[in-house]
Amino acid sequence: MARIETPKRIRGTQDIFGEEQRRFAHIVETFERVRRLYCFQRVDIPVFESTAVFARSLGETTDVVSKEMYTFEDRGGDSLTLRPEFTAGIARAYLTEGWQQYAPLKIATHGPVFRYERPQKGRFRQFHQIDAEVIGAGEPAADVELLVLADQLLHELGIADGVTLQLNTLGDAETRDAWRAALVAHFEAHRDVLSEDSLARLDKNPLRILDSKDPRDRPVADSAPDIDAYLTPEARAFFDAVTAGLDAAGVAWTRNARLVRGLDYYRHTAFEFVTDRLGSQGTVLAGGRYDGLIGSLGGPETPGVGWAAGIERLAMLLEEPAVETPDVVVVAEADEFELAAFKMTAELRRAGYSSASVVTGSPKKRYDKALKMNPAWTVVLSRKDGEASLVERGHRGVFNSESFRTILDPIYNAIA
Ligand code: ATP
Ligand code: MG
Repeated sequence: MARIETPKRIRGTQDIFGEEQRRFAHIVETFERVRRLYCFQRVDIPVFESTAVFARSLGETTDVVSKEMYTFEDRGGDSLTLRPEFTAGIARAYLTEGWQQYAPLKIATHGPVFRYERPQKGRFRQFHQIDAEVIGAGEPAADVELLVLADQLLHELGIADGVTLQLNTLGDAETRDAWRAALVAHFEAHRDVLSEDSLARLDKNPLRILDSKDPRDRPVADSAPDIDAYLTPEARAFFDAVTAGLDAAGVAWTRNARLVRGLDYYRHTAFEFVTDRLGSQGTVLAGGRYDGLIGSLGGPETPGVGWAAGIERLAMLLEEPAVETPDVVVVAEADEFELAAFKMTAELRRAGYSSASVVTGSPKKRYDKALKMNPAWTVVLSRKDGEASLVERGHRGVFNSESFRTILDPIYNAIA
């Protein structure tokens, strides 16, 4: 008979189980709790969109659109793309679902995103993000609130130490045009040493050369003019308001004048929370203000600001979360007590205790099996000298047996 090959897991995808799953769940639960503290509403949007949603929002020259998207034609001949990020889909929903009426809209979401990249530590093809956005608020207060949220999240996850908030401004349109011209002149003067990638960026996306990782580009990028000399008074006031807000809220930050978001519609605030604990995958959370994005999707000019963080990268920084253990394990040390054990666990669960029962395997080993689950309490049903017996034992912490006596006694009395 021909051997059947087991299909493989797709490269760059993950089956998240055990400790990894606990890390993952802890991040999502903490994010859900913190976003409520900031009155951000939860939204869910589709995993795939028309390709145009991402192509127009992110821009054809970005790495994501030019190299990383999972794009396919569906059976109806439409070009669809698995979301490589959340912001574009949220902006689309804002326009198509009439969410303008709720502006300023503070929303949060999380879930899988897809990018065709070379898989390595901290880099996957299906990975997961948490995401927070404020749409329809053009004031620096929105940037501050999002950054304070991110900072509190990292603190509550216990990973804020060793993670630094790097902050920059990309100015307003006037600032950016002037700065861009100065950068192009600087890079043109050093064409001969730039990498091929950066030469290609010079026409389309010169700001991106600033954050090039290629060592050939670094000296030219490092000596490039800062934006500061080109900031209009309005753009400077905006940046000052953001930093003053962060200082008032007690959020530490450092200026990184080389930090850019390459897309044309990015304005003002750009930021990354970075760590040196994850090698070259050191950016854990990143975002900025994208006042031109909704316009690029054909909507009315609408300001927006947001960030996304990779759950896998946050998970790698976490302390190992505790293993889940049951409150009560009910052990039937004789087969005749199987149904009573089921009934007890069912009643315990209805009363809000996590519980399991052990009713199979060698009767003598059932108690050991229960202890392996590390329960706070065990309840053992057995027959000794012809008499039915129920023995409860506390194993850790203080457990109030009275509170579940009323659950267990009637069941026990019926079998005794
Ligand atoms: P990088 O420079 O590492 O490629 P990026 O600039 O492409 O990151 P963003 O588009 O800003 O990343 O996405 C926000 C966050 O999502 C990143 O800071 C990172 O934590 C996470 N992330 C991005 N790409 C991946 C990936 N392929 N696998 C796992 N996490 C990722
Ligand atoms: Mg990337």
